[in-house]
Amino acid sequence: MRSIRSAAGSGALLTLVVLLLVAAAPASAGYSPGAKTLGDPIIPQIGNGGYDVRSYSIALNYEPSSNSFGPGTRTTIVAKATQGLSKFSLDFQKQLKIAEVRVDGVKAGYARASAKPKLSSDPDVTQPAKLTVTPTAPIAKGETFEVEVEYFGSPRPIVDTDGSLEGWVPACHAANDCDGSFTVNEPIGAQSWYPSNNHPSDKAKFRLETTAPTAYTAIGAGEQISRIDNGDGTATTTWVENEPMATYLASGTVGLFDVDEGTMTDHVNDVTIPTFVAIDSAGTPQRKQAVAATADRIPEMVNFLTGKFGAYPFETVGMVADWVPGVGYTLENQTKPHFAGDDGGPAADSSTLAHELAHQWMGDSISPANWSVIWFNEGWATFAEVLFDSKVDGDEMTPRKFFKAVYEIRAKYWKLAPAELDGDPANLFDGVAVYNRPGAMLEGLREIIGNERFFAFARDLNERHGHGNITRGQFINEAEDASGLRGRKLERLGKYFRQWLLWTKRPHLTPADF
Ligand SMILES: [Zn+2]
Repeated sequence: MRSIRSAAGSGALLTLVVLLLVAAAPASAGYSPGAKTLGDPIIPQIGNGGYDVRSYSIALNYEPSSNSFGPGTRTTIVAKATQGLSKFSLDFQKQLKIAEVRVDGVKAGYARASAKPKLSSDPDVTQPAKLTVTPTAPIAKGETFEVEVEYFGSPRPIVDTDGSLEGWVPACHAANDCDGSFTVNEPIGAQSWYPSNNHPSDKAKFRLETTAPTAYTAIGAGEQISRIDNGDGTATTTWVENEPMATYLASGTVGLFDVDEGTMTDHVNDVTIPTFVAIDSAGTPQRKQAVAATADRIPEMVNFLTGKFGAYPFETVGMVADWVPGVGYTLENQTKPHFAGDDGGPAADSSTLAHELAHQWMGDSISPANWSVIWFNEGWATFAEVLFDSKVDGDEMTPRKFFKAVYEIRAKYWKLAPAELDGDPANLFDGVAVYNRPGAMLEGLREIIGNERFFAFARDLNERHGHGNITRGQFINEAEDASGLRGRKLERLGKYFRQWLLWTKRPHLTPADF
């Protein structure tokens, strides 16, 4: 998700003038600075050109009582240069202080600056920042290099242009009642706690090694491979996610949790999948039982979704139900959806869990090529949520009724095109443009081409783009190929997608036109 927030139509539209500064002609033969952007149409401030990250190895020495990173905290990135690099940048917020930066073991120069252009004129909104690294010797194109950033200090959450909190959020259920961290990084929160190429197009393997007081549970994506008691009141917990992961899907949550580990069987593919469920220990017994009852449905949901989308894409599955009411939404962290809870304690409902688990295929395994493709994530997750609720839980809102209900939404909510979002990051979680309209578009496609072709298409998407990325063009071309339609009807399907993704008014074409 994120869970649906308020509907569309807030405030003035911010037009971002994107100055794509094409790298100037290289001064010395074949080497130039990597671009400080990946040209994202919604958030050009993030991402860095000139290299492709292969792996992140993050070591956090975390003190929950002061919410701070101590000595030994570092991120090691292995990357491949895609151009000759005289210098390169990472996305990393300035409040974390740098102890040292090394490239291939040799101390490197560095500088820090706000990303350009300014993300917002609102002083409450966090400005993304860059850490520029200058190695002592330039890096040749095609070379694999290692950059190690040692840092310390207190991570601060990022305030988005829509006012919400993300990144490394102190896990407080009341003022001065905090028990660690809650990490939800969509879209740019990762850079509040580790330096990265913070764009969904550059996916990589992850290793997270968190040292924290022994009473605390440290959580990462993927599988826990060890927990070592250091004998000094702290333990070091190591998690490894072997499948490629976008930076926004990483978990670094630390807290006081009731943990339930087990296994589930994916009956469609006949594989056993380890499960991990963490529920905030401070919740009331009633709340904790209710969350556990929802978590108990993970096997049922994964099997339902496996039947529709193909094999579960990751090696582990689970969820985290924290108690951080200041966040107000749920996020599909890879292998472990994160529920923030509400004022009354940890909370998780089955509709949202089905939504977040659907994201494991659509969004996490198949990630958007850039942020203007977020409709793909949320369209599929919204559709899957409606499908699960009606098919399994007997909810009267069937996908067909959902399509009709969405199509009747008032005219003003159709002004925002899902695939453009006016280029404004404040629209990234727009309820209609990003969730309901793309969800209805997919249901319409199902009605146009029928169940068999539709779910075969969903499985083909996972085979082609799983553990990778997808663009709007790829989605449309492959949907057209999968449709079985020809001639006029095939042309009409192309128009259908254009109207549903790009029009700034209610589309004319519906399944009734096919
Ligand atoms: Zn979602």
